[in-house]
Amino acid sequence: MKPIYLDYAATTPTHPEVVKAMLPYFTEVFGNPSSIYSYGLEAKEALEQARAKVANLIGARDEEIVFTSGGTEADNSALKGVALANESKGNHIITSSIEHHAVSETCKFLEKRGFQVTYLPVDEYGLVNPEDVKKAITVKTILISIMYGNNEVGTIEPIAEIGQIAKEAKVYFHTDAVQTVGHIPIAVDELGVNLLSMSAHKLYGPKGVGALYVRKGTRLVPFLHGGDQEKKRRATTENVPGIVGFGAAAEMAQREMGQEAQRLTHLRDRLIKGILERIEDVRLNGHPKRRLPNNVNISFNFVEGESILLNLDLEGICVSTGSACTSASLEPSAVLLAMGLSHELAHGSLRMTLGKWTTEEEINQVLEVLPRVIAKLRAMSPLMKK
Ligand SMILES: *Cc1c(COP(=O)(O)O)cnc(C)c1O
Repeated sequence: MKPIYLDYAATTPTHPEVVKAMLPYFTEVFGNPSSIYSYGLEAKEALEQARAKVANLIGARDEEIVFTSGGTEADNSALKGVALANESKGNHIITSSIEHHAVSETCKFLEKRGFQVTYLPVDEYGLVNPEDVKKAITVKTILISIMYGNNEVGTIEPIAEIGQIAKEAKVYFHTDAVQTVGHIPIAVDELGVNLLSMSAHKLYGPKGVGALYVRKGTRLVPFLHGGDQEKKRRATTENVPGIVGFGAAAEMAQREMGQEAQRLTHLRDRLIKGILERIEDVRLNGHPKRRLPNNVNISFNFVEGESILLNLDLEGICVSTGSACTSASLEPSAVLLAMGLSHELAHGSLRMTLGKWTTEEEINQVLEVLPRVIAKLRAMSPLMKK
């Protein structure tokens, strides 16, 4: 039997419909979009159609979409690009203490080069308080970067409220929306963002392609210098098959997002409720309501997340202990610590993220296996009060 996959926040399979859309662009329509004969023009046409689809998904204008190699590059170009372009205005950046490493590590890099970064705290649900953002702004603030949906605990941040504050203070506002785009409706004008990061492989597109939304008029130093591609905002020959795949995934998300979010929310809540009912000494991490439709994150007292993960793997269930990037290290999640969890509880956390191919039967299977695995591990645990 195929293992049950509950790690859609780490990556999603590329949808067969997306693969089908991409295939001709490897072989038949292989031209360089910058070439002005037919092969090139056809590739260019596909590129622009994909751009329109991605723009449409977030309510942007086509020319505000810059394709990148993924979410990490979008985050890096937003932060470093704004920092370098606005150095004469100030050196202060505001972010949160629960960002993805693509943002937090970039902030650390910038700190070493003379920028000052304020890492805002979050409450027990992982929410940033917009008032804290307001209070942190100084005359030197050039950028606010707060993620939209948290990849570990699923909490959805008050982006529109922060956008309003950023607008009034005339400070650029970036959001990492990698977990959110294609999963809940997004309109960049309502959010008041200048920059927004996306990644195709989190919405059933291929890996290695993403985009940065750059609001018209936003001053940004390009990340890659070279040719004139992407209106000189990112040199290198465009990843045409990847971008076409991203476009197809965006179009599919636009079509199916509403119903799919409803279906997943139902499964998500059934899984959460089932675990809380069946297992003692557990805690739901993240906000109970303001959360991504597909995210379940639970801490289990007296056991280690890694042990649960490995035992579930033996039972044919693939889950995560947090972000894919840290799951190989033994440090507890910085996100959970920032939310006030003890080291023990942070170590005992499990993330299950649902997706397009998750079924009710799979959720039932998890609800049957998980209590057994937890009981077994707790019986062996030195942490367990006997
Ligand atoms: C996956 C992810 C990224 C990185 O995207 P890549 O395309 O894998 O580089 C950035 N931010 C968040 C919130 C993510 O979940």
